[in-house]
Amino acid sequence: MPELPEVETVRTYLDGVMSGREIEEVILYRKDLRFRFPNNFRKTLEGAVVRRVSRRGKLILIVCCKKEDKERTQKKKHEKNVFLWLVHLGMSGRLLWFSCRRACEVVRHRHVCIRFVDGSFLCYEDARRFGFMEVAEGCEEDHNSLRLDRMGIEPLSKNFTKQWLWDGVVQGVRGQGRTIKDTLMDQGCVAGLGNIYVNEALWAARVHPFRRVGSMSRVECGRIVSSIKKILSSAIAAGGSTLRDYRGGDGELGYFQLRLRAYGRGGEACRRRGCGGRIVRVVRGGRASYFCERVR
Ligand SMILES: [Zn+2]
Repeated sequence: MPELPEVETVRTYLDGVMSGREIEEVILYRKDLRFRFPNNFRKTLEGAVVRRVSRRGKLILIVCCKKEDKERTQKKKHEKNVFLWLVHLGMSGRLLWFSCRRACEVVRHRHVCIRFVDGSFLCYEDARRFGFMEVAEGCEEDHNSLRLDRMGIEPLSKNFTKQWLWDGVVQGVRGQGRTIKDTLMDQGCVAGLGNIYVNEALWAARVHPFRRVGSMSRVECGRIVSSIKKILSSAIAAGGSTLRDYRGGDGELGYFQLRLRAYGRGGEACRRRGCGGRIVRVVRGGRASYFCERVR
C-alpha cells in the first residue's frame, strides 16, 4: 500500500507532467471505486486547468482552476476560483501518464481516464478498488473538505516534534491506552504513515509496537519523531531517484522500496549492531508487526 513517500513521489511526478494542462474529457468506466464518484465529478473536471499537484497525508490533491477562470493570475493569493481534485490510491491504485490514447487502452484495471486538450492521458488503475476520488471547493489551506479537516499532523512538517507527541498524544486526555503503533497509523493523528514505515520507525526508535501510548517517555517520543522523519525523508529521496528513470518516458510510475530493516524480515537476525536478537513477526487485527525480540 502506498504510504506518504510513495504518494509524494507520485505527486512530484504528476506535478511535473500535469501542471498547466487543460482537461478535455473525463471517462469513467464505472460508478464507484471504494466510494461512488460524486455526481458533479465529470462536470467539475472537464474544462478545468491543472495548476499544481499537492499532497496531504496519503491523499493527492490536484489543484485545478475552474474553466470560467482560466485567465486569472497564477498567484496563490488570488486563488478564488479553484477546486481540489482529491485522489486516494487505496491499496493498489496507480496514476499512469501517457502521451497518447493507445498506450492507456492496454491498462488492465483502468477505471478512470482523463484526456487533456493536448492529447495526453492520465489513467487510474486499481485492481482492488480501495482508492477513491472526490472534489472539494478551495485550495490546500482553505477548502470545504471534511476529509481534509479530519486529517492529523504532517510528519514532515516542523510542527511534528517530540514536544507535540508528548503534549498532544502521550499526555493527551484520550487514547493513552492505545498502542503506539495504532496511534501512529491513525490518519487523524499522524497523516501519511502506514504499516511499513511505522514498523520501520519503531524498530529504529527501539520502541515495541504494542507499548501503550501512556507509557512512553519523553526520550522515546524524541526517538520516535526523529526516526519517522528520517525514514520518510530517505524513502522520498529513494523515490526521487527511481523517478529519474521515468522522466521523458511514457507510462508506468513504479513504486520503490527502501531497503527495509525490520518489515518483512520475521525470523532474521536484528540488524542493529551488537543486538544479537531476532526480528519477530506478530499478526494482530490482520496486520503484521515486526520488531526485535529484545525490545520491550
Ligand atoms: Zn535488536
